[in-house]
Amino acid sequence: MLRFENQPSYSLGQRSPSHKEAGDGGNVTLVSQSTLGEINRGRVLQALYDHGPKSRAELARLAGVNRTTITGIVQPMIEEGLLVEFDAVPSDFKGGKPARPIYFNPEAPMLGAVLLLPGRIQTCLVTLSGEIKALTRAEFDPYGDRDVFLAILKDTLSATLSQARQAPFGIGIASGGMIDSDNGVILAVNLAPVLSGLPLVDILQRDFSLPVVIDHHPRALLVGDRWFGPGRGQQTFAAIYTGEVLGGAFYIDGRVYRGLAGSGGELGHTVVQIDGELCNCGKHGCWETVAALPWLRREAACLGMANSEGVTCARLVKEAAEGSKAADDLLDRYTRNVAFGILNLQQTLSLNSYLLHGDIAGGGADAAERVRQHVESLVRKRPNQEISITVNGIGEGHTALRGAAGLVLSSHLKLVI
Ligand SMILES: [Zn+2]
Repeated sequence: MLRFENQPSYSLGQRSPSHKEAGDGGNVTLVSQSTLGEINRGRVLQALYDHGPKSRAELARLAGVNRTTITGIVQPMIEEGLLVEFDAVPSDFKGGKPARPIYFNPEAPMLGAVLLLPGRIQTCLVTLSGEIKALTRAEFDPYGDRDVFLAILKDTLSATLSQARQAPFGIGIASGGMIDSDNGVILAVNLAPVLSGLPLVDILQRDFSLPVVIDHHPRALLVGDRWFGPGRGQQTFAAIYTGEVLGGAFYIDGRVYRGLAGSGGELGHTVVQIDGELCNCGKHGCWETVAALPWLRREAACLGMANSEGVTCARLVKEAAEGSKAADDLLDRYTRNVAFGILNLQQTLSLNSYLLHGDIAGGGADAAERVRQHVESLVRKRPNQEISITVNGIGEGHTALRGAAGLVLSSHLKLVI
């Protein structure tokens, strides 16, 4: 078992084992001096993610702080080895002092990331600028023995972490299912009962002597989108995931939304059909029953499509483009069913921007455009309202892993995002 016995000496802020202080559901009512510092630090890091390397003056402008404050934020992070000031770019020299761009230090400690989906584990290290290293994969029996699962997970994680030259800042876990992110427990995973009730944060903190945070998979996708993907710079959007299950997460007015103990976003179990089909959760008519892969496979089988077990949105898009009427019709029904859930979200929260992930994103811009057209035709539109539906073209696993790493940054470096 790999253990990091010595905590690095360049720790930023207090590292709490719990997730409660930072990034949670907007509890900053009294802004203390230290909270203000956290908010400003978060803004500066966000500006770096959104815009790349920038000079102090540009960072001050982008983060909305004055020149004195920016030095107070940036200098400690340079001294701690988190940021680095590069040599001045000659073209920036305009008679005054040449501006030196600041960016993440490539030598800084990395972030550990774990993606847990039914039957599959991925672990990696993520640099502060979002590069993925030491990616390791393993499989487990979702209905198997818990100790066997934990042994596989720890081996996989050890294989990744042993490639870090210095102790990572922490480990972020993105897991499918219902998650209590405050207490670090996987509450229930319908498709992987071996994970249900698992206090994974405590277990990994004890075994690896590193801070550990957990959140549900779609929320990690959202954080990955916001910091490293097409959500950069956006103030309000939702991430929607379809696959074996369906889920989502919200970024509202510049904050990741978390309900009590990290709840919310279990969109797969919002009801779109009263007394509809039985869902994995035991209830009826959930959105997931008509807009996830099991539905798609069933419908493909009913239509007599070849290899219906292997049907995906990507395949339907390809076959529809090749002239298959059956594929075109089924793709249209699938994207319409996805659109119904988005429609309800739009009427409820008016988020206007939806980033698709998972199987539906595999259908690319074609599938996204179909979803958008269905939403447009179904929604009760306000004047001048533009609804954007896009796919994250970066690749699912990487976005979730980057997002899991982002959870570590936001909670243990006490950033307000
Ligand atoms: Zn359900």
